[in-house]
Amino acid sequence: MKAIRIHEFGGPEVLRYETVADPELRKNQVLVRTRACAMNRLDLWVRKGLPGIPLPHILGSDIAGEIAAMGEYVTGVASGQRVLLAPMHFCNHCAKCVAGLQNQCPEFTVLGNLVDGGNCELMAVPPEIVIPIPDRLDFEQAASVPLVFLTAWHMLVTRAGIRQGQTVLVLGGGSGVGIAAIQIAKLFHARVIATAGDDAKLEKARNLGADYGVDHYKQKISQEVRRITEKQGVDIVVEHVGAATWEESMKSLKPGGTIVTCGATTGPNAAFDLRFLFARQLSFLGSYMGTMGELHDVLGHIFAGRLKPVIDRTFSLEDTRAAHAYMEQGRMFGKIVLQV
Ligand SMILES: [Zn+2]
Repeated sequence: MKAIRIHEFGGPEVLRYETVADPELRKNQVLVRTRACAMNRLDLWVRKGLPGIPLPHILGSDIAGEIAAMGEYVTGVASGQRVLLAPMHFCNHCAKCVAGLQNQCPEFTVLGNLVDGGNCELMAVPPEIVIPIPDRLDFEQAASVPLVFLTAWHMLVTRAGIRQGQTVLVLGGGSGVGIAAIQIAKLFHARVIATAGDDAKLEKARNLGADYGVDHYKQKISQEVRRITEKQGVDIVVEHVGAATWEESMKSLKPGGTIVTCGATTGPNAAFDLRFLFARQLSFLGSYMGTMGELHDVLGHIFAGRLKPVIDRTFSLEDTRAAHAYMEQGRMFGKIVLQV
C-alpha cells in the first residue's frame, strides 16, 4: 500500500510518500480502506519529534473509510460499510478500560502518536474503535470530527461540567478544538465569547454560534471579556494556547470559574500567583482526549446534524508535505483533511 511515513524527525521534508507492506489482518481485527484522514496539531508535534515514537512511523489520527475485510472472530460489521475510527489505542482489558475510562488506560495513546496512524491506504484495527457513519456525512467530514469534538466534549461536559446559561470563553475559535467547543457550548445554551486572529475568522466563529468575538492580536482578551460580561467574567475558559494566554485566561474568570486545558501550543510554562487561585476559588483542570462513551455521545449529535464538521481545505495524501506547511502557517479555520 501507499503511505506517508517519517524515518526521522524534522520539517515537512521528512514526510515520505512511499510503498509499504500491507498490514496483516488478525482474526480479531477489521481491515479498513482509508478514504480520508484529518490533520491535527499533533501531526506537527509527532513529525518534529516526541518521546517514544518508533521509526519509521505513519502519522494521522482521524480516519474515515470503508471496511475492506474482517477477521473470522469479528461480527457486527459488514464488508463495504462506511466507518470512522475512534482516534485512540487502548488495551481494552485493564480496570480503567473496562470501567469505560479508556483515556486513563496505561497503554492509552492517540492513533498516529505512539502507534501507526492513518496516512496510508489500509489499517488493521480492533472492532471496538470502528464506528459506522451515516450516508449524509462524506468521508472528509467524518474524518474531521473525532479527535477535536471528543476533546472539546471531554473538556466542557465531563471536566468543566458546563451548565445552561453559563458564559464560556473559547480561545482560538478557528482551531479544531475551537470550532467544536463553540458548537458544544451553544448546544448547552451557554453564552460564547470566541477569540480569533482576524476579522474573517471572527465572522466564521459567529456563524458557528459564537455570541461575541475578540481579536486576540488587536484586543486584550481579559479587558474585552470584562466589557462584554459587565465586569462579571466567564464561568469557563477553553484553553489550549498555553504560555501566551494563561494569564489572560485567568483574569477572564469570574470567582469560582474554571480553566480547562488540553494543550500548550505557545509553550508549556505558565506562571500564576497562587493567591489569585485560592482567593478567587478558581479551578484549573487538565483534559486529554476522552472516552469511547463520550465519543459515542458527541457523534450522536454530529450524526443528527446538531453539531457540524468544519473543513478548511483538503489535500491529497501525496501532498501531505504541502498540507503540513499550510497548517504551520496557521491561516485555516477548521480542519485540514488528506484524501487517501
Ligand atoms: Zn486499558
